[in-house]
Amino acid sequence: MTAAANGAAEGFERCYGYAPEGVWAAPGRVNLIGEYTDVNEGHVLPIALPHCTRVAAAARTDGVLRLRSRETPGGAAELSPAALAPGAVKGWAAYPAGVAWALREAGLPVGGADVYVESDVPAGAGLSSSAALEVATALALTELHGAVCERPALARLAQRAENAFVGVPCGVMDQMASACCTAGHALHLDTRGLALRQVPFDLAARGLRLLVVDTRVRHALADGAYAARRAGCEAAARALGVRALRDVPYGRLGDALGELGDVSLRPLVRHVVTEGERVREVVALLAAGEPRKAGPLLTAGHASLRDDFAVSCPELDLAVAVANEAGALGARMTGAGFGGSALALVEEGAADAVGEAVTEAFAAAGHRPPRVFAAVAGGGAR
Ligand code: ADP
Repeated sequence: MTAAANGAAEGFERCYGYAPEGVWAAPGRVNLIGEYTDVNEGHVLPIALPHCTRVAAAARTDGVLRLRSRETPGGAAELSPAALAPGAVKGWAAYPAGVAWALREAGLPVGGADVYVESDVPAGAGLSSSAALEVATALALTELHGAVCERPALARLAQRAENAFVGVPCGVMDQMASACCTAGHALHLDTRGLALRQVPFDLAARGLRLLVVDTRVRHALADGAYAARRAGCEAAARALGVRALRDVPYGRLGDALGELGDVSLRPLVRHVVTEGERVREVVALLAAGEPRKAGPLLTAGHASLRDDFAVSCPELDLAVAVANEAGALGARMTGAGFGGSALALVEEGAADAVGEAVTEAFAAAGHRPPRVFAAVAGGGAR
């Protein structure tokens, strides 16, 4: 066992007074490009972070689920099978409880368990701590009870837990990234059929770094805006007579915009369609061993999210502008926006200067100090 897994096992033993049967880990993620494309059945390109959520667990024979997390010390839950109903469980426990519910709903023979959670994925930073928690729990529960479930199906069930049980209308990217990424690669995922391809992403070998800037803000607008953008995209797809906006080809964008009677929907369509094209271009550049050329596409993606999709915020705009001024090859917000994190692609030798420039700019603007770290593409759940 790794030191981190040992720590989780010890935490379990302190809570429950006996040793767990195992420890399962699932990572957070950062999405390189393809924002809000997953809720339009399009393509995304996340990497897994080295930061993980660990679930130490042991099976119970009475169907009861006992849940504890180091991160929410007061939030222990004990749930009978009858208590596992959508909307019935509040707070953090809804995530692991929802996973147990979704697995059982899918007919998998998943019984009760004692569960202890530890995580070093910052929560609420747009780095998918919730998906990491769901996927680690799903892996733990299926393996404890001998249930067989392939990774993409596991990710879909984790998404179902978040959509139907917790009540968050997220896409499937985060759970797929956490379940299916491999170290040294970005995951090129078609979120419609879940076809996936591992694209080499070893920046260190090319003298590059990927900086993540966690702004440590989350504006109250976030949840409502997410639902509103999704609804807008669905309305635009209906108006254009397609199943989802991923079905509007880039080459037909001009015509499609002209066909939309409701002009307020045009920027949404423009973002989703151009973002799909940016994913295609970044994948091609990575596959060709030319990651530096992806920089301007990241920055173009940010402009599209800021100006057309309108989900950025002053802190994210500042992080991106200052990173680029300080020498980044490109930068963008990542995740759903209104706070959370930005990323910047930088030459190795410029990484410290870019990080310092962003930190100084935040201080000068009176923002909280951001958390800046270099991300390497880690492995998926294990
Ligand atoms: P993120 O971008 O980090 O996924 P969300 O707001 O979607 O942000 O999810 C964060 C929520 O997930 C937390 O408020 C908490 O309820 C739950 N969560 C995530 N990780 C943990 C953990 N290790 N322990 C307890 N709850 C967690």
